[in-house]
Amino acid sequence: MISEKMKGLGSNRSVIRELFEYGKKKSAEVGAENVYDFSLGNPSVPAPQSVEKAIKELMATADPTVLHGYTSAQGDAGVRKTIADNLVSRFGLPVKPELMYMTCGAAASLCISLKALACDGDEFITFTPFFPEYRVFVEMTGSKLVPVKSAEGTFQIDRNAFEKAITPNTKGIIVNTPNNPSGVVLTDDSIKAIVEVLEKKEAEYEHPIFIITDEPYRELVYSGKPDSPFMKLYDDTILCYSYSKSLSLPGERIGYVAVSDRMADKSDVYAAICGAGRALGYVCAPSMMQRVVATCDGETADVSVYKKNRDLLYNALTEMGYSCVYPDGAFYLFVKSPIASANEFSELAKEYNLLLVPADSFGVEGYVRISYCVSTDMIERSLPKFKELICRMQSILQ
Ligand code: PLP
Repeated sequence: MISEKMKGLGSNRSVIRELFEYGKKKSAEVGAENVYDFSLGNPSVPAPQSVEKAIKELMATADPTVLHGYTSAQGDAGVRKTIADNLVSRFGLPVKPELMYMTCGAAASLCISLKALACDGDEFITFTPFFPEYRVFVEMTGSKLVPVKSAEGTFQIDRNAFEKAITPNTKGIIVNTPNNPSGVVLTDDSIKAIVEVLEKKEAEYEHPIFIITDEPYRELVYSGKPDSPFMKLYDDTILCYSYSKSLSLPGERIGYVAVSDRMADKSDVYAAICGAGRALGYVCAPSMMQRVVATCDGETADVSVYKKNRDLLYNALTEMGYSCVYPDGAFYLFVKSPIASANEFSELAKEYNLLLVPADSFGVEGYVRISYCVSTDMIERSLPKFKELICRMQSILQ
């Protein structure tokens, strides 16, 4: 006997992976230059020069037994201090190195945080649309994911829907801004609504309801400055971060969890974070990369490329008649399917070699996600295909 649940997770590829594999096959048939693959969120901009410089310096100067050796389970103390100091000076966050845990990227940060908090019968709320792996991560702990619909069209927080979804079993909420898959950045009003509702419900139920803020796209914003708003406003906050997108290092698997220093139960929660890291086998995040990100923390890959892509694609598609959610961050464009079924629309798009991810698994029906972390040249070449596709849609709808 083996776990049927795990077998199922391993056997069924996500819709994103399916499309990506299809794209590879199609490229072999018709040439890569004729396939417009918008499926994956793999950064297309190289890591900044400072990453290479830091690696070279470490390789040249550090004691290899230290550089490649185990660090403390929760990460090197000096690395945690550098990152915590930066979070204080950049965003004014109440963090301390003693409450930080280095991880293998945001996926590990989330799994550790959820495992640390979850007890039998717990529920975790998230807002639609959401990163589909949240369901896998929450269910892995034996808890239930409760998706709450965001306001259609803007995907900002629907305060009433959120308040109604909270029950005595709600252990926490997972919030993600800038958002994958919509590209939406939560407004101050949405942030305030989340905080006010949670403060009210914490008082009503007399137990903490945690915010898990998932911020891998924090630095990918196109107006205004990067921010990390929740921990400043709400004491029961756990911050999950990853350098996968900001430094274009997704394959290096490096990030962190930070527990708020203002949290009443911070010592217990941090101990549970360390315990969850231990139980899940996520101890000692990659040692050399810990030092690299400490050196490069706060820097970014060239985000201007994504902004250029965003402007090009958003302007061109809206002009053609597509309806798109305005994306102010991350590198995704969320486009309303001109026909009711996003799956059908995605299938029709394939006929034009446009690979667009239907968003049903993101908790919203009738949309497709376009990842524009691709070359600007590919976007330019794809535009006539998008035009042909919308003309076809219009003829279907007439
Ligand atoms: N959270 C969100 C919203 C993401 O989009 C991703 C990856 O795409 C992750 C978490 C996982 O990030 P990582 O690759 O750093 O584990």
